Amino acid sequence: MSSTNHFTYLVLGAGSGGIASARRAAKHLNSKGNGDRIGIVEVTRSGGTCVNVGCVPKKVMWNTSFIKEMINAAPSYGFDFGGQVKFNWPTIKKSRDEYIKRLNGIYDTNLAKDNIVKINGYGRFSGPKEIQVNGENGEKYTADHILIATGGRPSVPDIPGKELGITSDGFFELEDLPKSTLVVGAGYIAVELAGVLHSLGSETTMVIRNKQFLRTFDEMLHTTLLKQMTDDGVKFVTEASIKSLEKDVDGKMIIATTNTGEKLPPVECVIWAIGREPNTNDLGIDKAGIQLVGGGFIKVDEFQNTNVPGVHAVGDICGNFLLTPVAIAAGRRLSERLFNGKSDLKFDYENVATVVFSHPPIGTVGLTEQEAITKYGSENIKCYNTSFVNMFYSVQVHKVRTSMKLVCLGKEEKVVGLHIIGDGCDEIIQGFAVAVKMGCTKWDLDNTCAIHPTSGIKFNEKM
Ligand code: FAD
Ligand code: NDP
Repeated sequence: MSSTNHFTYLVLGAGSGGIASARRAAKHLNSKGNGDRIGIVEVTRSGGTCVNVGCVPKKVMWNTSFIKEMINAAPSYGFDFGGQVKFNWPTIKKSRDEYIKRLNGIYDTNLAKDNIVKINGYGRFSGPKEIQVNGENGEKYTADHILIATGGRPSVPDIPGKELGITSDGFFELEDLPKSTLVVGAGYIAVELAGVLHSLGSETTMVIRNKQFLRTFDEMLHTTLLKQMTDDGVKFVTEASIKSLEKDVDGKMIIATTNTGEKLPPVECVIWAIGREPNTNDLGIDKAGIQLVGGGFIKVDEFQNTNVPGVHAVGDICGNFLLTPVAIAAGRRLSERLFNGKSDLKFDYENVATVVFSHPPIGTVGLTEQEAITKYGSENIKCYNTSFVNMFYSVQVHKVRTSMKLVCLGKEEKVVGLHIIGDGCDEIIQGFAVAVKMGCTKWDLDNTCAIHPTSGIKFNEKM
């Protein structure tokens, strides 16, 4: 094997975790001047799910729907568009695609600047510390350390007509706004895409197999959001799953049949949003002897080590908090540990804040009320709730409530959970996550003077 095929660090997957880890490794290894080499293998465009078919294009579409909501509110604030407002989906799709292309270029430039060798192709393990790119006749590469950061892909149910539906990947390829959409699923993606589509004018129905969506979130959040979305006109088919999809007689609309045999009204578009599967199925995992856990995720310890020495994994592939900042932070910490002597550094999976870009958004950090009760006992948990109509809606007929819950532990009322739904919470939760992570108490929040008029967190003060 040629020496150019050996790397100090070889990363599989140029997504959020892989790029972050490779670049942090470069920062330390390049300056040492020991001839260390870093490589990254990527089968598609740089940036991974987040940049190409995830957070970034999703947020652009959420921003688009936000503007639509402002336009809806504008007449109450005295604006008169004279019936002239038109929305053109292809315009925003074009700008969005161009933006992502620019990001792809920036990622590649940064990799090159950091002297990271980009290997274009599909990588598989051909041995414990060996990766072969592009099939059996492809080039083989070895490394002192290998990072698996291959992320995941959308799940599709195994039912007749499943190919008539699209996934979140397909959503970003839509050339126009569907007139009607059925969104199947009950997680982040289902809620976010249903919200965007409804807000932009697609007649939207969500099919959920239980009574509720976002069931792992605090009960206050999912009940409040379900009510708001129902009030806003999203339709729900609950406690149902889709048994089959077929085209109607004209071959234009899709008809979904549920498990009870009910045929739902025909729609233009069906979106599967029922979760994601890890990209481990075709990775030669067996050739490397890497252990998996339930659902095909890679088993790692708290330091992101797999069971094979020198092989590590970060991000969605590990199945724990499938979020971009988690993949990035875990990837960077791993490189600090491997290449900068910070032997104890690891990502702390407690109190990871997250936002659902729903309408209105949800921001949450820490334990749900139920999780806190299960962990500490109901006698040790006290919750504070507050709910109000944001002042923005004071001059409008359309009202959207902001609701908040603080989950507190013990006599000192240490905040172990904070859950907010309402306009602006997507931007404020990060700051409160810092306070929660530092172990703040309810009194710390009470003792911090509020900012008026904002939705800044304020519960009944305890003196
Ligand atoms: P990825 O970013 O998926 O990167 C994996 C890379 O590996 C890909 O580029 C892939 O092509 C490549 N690859 C896979 N197999 C191979 C192989 N064998 N050889 C070579 N290359 C390979 N998270 C948030 O924090 N906020 C959000 O708002 C948010 N919104 C989202 C919206 C949607 C619609 C989706 C789908 C996800 C969203 N996420 C969001 C989740 C976020 O995108 C992921 O958590 C994040 O991208 C995971 O990063 P990763 O590095 O683990 O994997
Ligand atoms: P999720 O895991 O969040 O949710 C999928 C849900 O769909 C399940 O929880 C389940 O809910 C339901 N479901 C599963 N199988 C079926 C089925 N066969 N039929 C009907 N419903 C089913 O997955 P997503 O795909 O929404 O998102 C994947 C991950 O990506 C998220 O967990 C999140 O970490 C990340 N993400 C983050 C975002 C953000 O930060 N804003 C945005 C988008 C994604 P139930 O059991 O209640 O039926």
